[in-house]
Amino acid sequence: MASLTVPAPPCLKRPLHVPHRHMFGPGPSNTPDRILQAGAKPVIGHMHPETFEIMNDIKSGIQYMFQTQNKVTFAVSGTGHTAMECAIFNAVEPGESVLSTVNGIWGERAADVFERIGATVNTIVAPPGGFFSLDEIEQALSKYRPALLFVTHGESSTGVLHPLDGLGPLCHKYDCLLLVDSVAAMGGAPLHMDKQGKIDILYTGSQKVLNVPPGSAPISFSERACQKIFNRKTKPVSFFLDLSWLANYWGCDDKPARVYHHTGPVTAFYSLREGLAMLAEEGLENSWKRHESVAEYFHAELESMGLKPFVKEKKARLPTVTTIVAPHGYDWKEITTYIMKTHNLEISGGLGPSVGLVLRVGLMGCNSTKANVDLVLTALKDALKHCHKSKV
Ligand code: PMP
Repeated sequence: MASLTVPAPPCLKRPLHVPHRHMFGPGPSNTPDRILQAGAKPVIGHMHPETFEIMNDIKSGIQYMFQTQNKVTFAVSGTGHTAMECAIFNAVEPGESVLSTVNGIWGERAADVFERIGATVNTIVAPPGGFFSLDEIEQALSKYRPALLFVTHGESSTGVLHPLDGLGPLCHKYDCLLLVDSVAAMGGAPLHMDKQGKIDILYTGSQKVLNVPPGSAPISFSERACQKIFNRKTKPVSFFLDLSWLANYWGCDDKPARVYHHTGPVTAFYSLREGLAMLAEEGLENSWKRHESVAEYFHAELESMGLKPFVKEKKARLPTVTTIVAPHGYDWKEITTYIMKTHNLEISGGLGPSVGLVLRVGLMGCNSTKANVDLVLTALKDALKHCHKSKV
């Protein structure tokens, strides 16, 4: 037999090292031990009855978190992007008109995904830090007559919480499905999938307010969305994300048995179940209130030290991810690097259209406490004292 041409890499002889760190960027957030321990339980089969029971618990947890009775509610195996693609690949057919509201990077990303499947993409664009009024959205709906509208609830690149009230009825008036990305806001800001109108497709991620490692993404589809999806003329472009297969694997259809589709990441399911259990124990409304009051405290303290929140309108500030106007005269990268090095704490700069304009601080789930705000403020004060400030 031929000898190996690639030797065992010496780096793998060293033990795995992962530092402890304050994860106060826009995600992932810190993971409590209870969730990590859940994920360390033994691997069992993805088709074993015990796994199905865990998946059923997850479905109920997501229905609670989303405030929905939708039967087709489950967790996609993958991150927030996978859920975004699952929603778009299934709900839109090539050639259909869609509308993406762009007030940061996530509307841009959705437009990119729409384009990849051959949809006719229309956008309306607001400057970073802004959002859309119902009137602006109605004008675009009546102009483009899209089959689906994409809105980002929590724009993590700009720190905007987009108002959702009234959007559902508006979309339905124009016979359009409403797709909402709540990856960065879910669990930390009020949202009622059924009562708000209703939202047709909603997804989030695991690694933000839920404090679960990245890798599973809750998603839910209304009856209206399912009607359209299950009567498509063409197959969705992805087999892995095909809703008819996924709905069956998660026991959301009326078929007598679940059929193998893919090997579900069972340990990711354990952690997700634990994160949902912790949210249910605290209570959704308590979690919303806690994020709101911690964010208010944070914003007031920032202003008292002379820093400005980037989003002017108070009610449009995302309680999970705060954007701060990049301090004048400083290099934002030097600030974030200094804080990581000196305080072992992650905060980040802007993303997409907010690059260079902001610093971003995420305090999500268990990280959303006044004590953590104080840690961030101390680190920021220290950085402003020690980082280079230009005179111009
Ligand atoms: N949407 C929003 C609003 C997000 O903040 C993120 C993650 N930063 C995503 C989608 C994508 O999620 P992921 O990185 O888990 O794929």
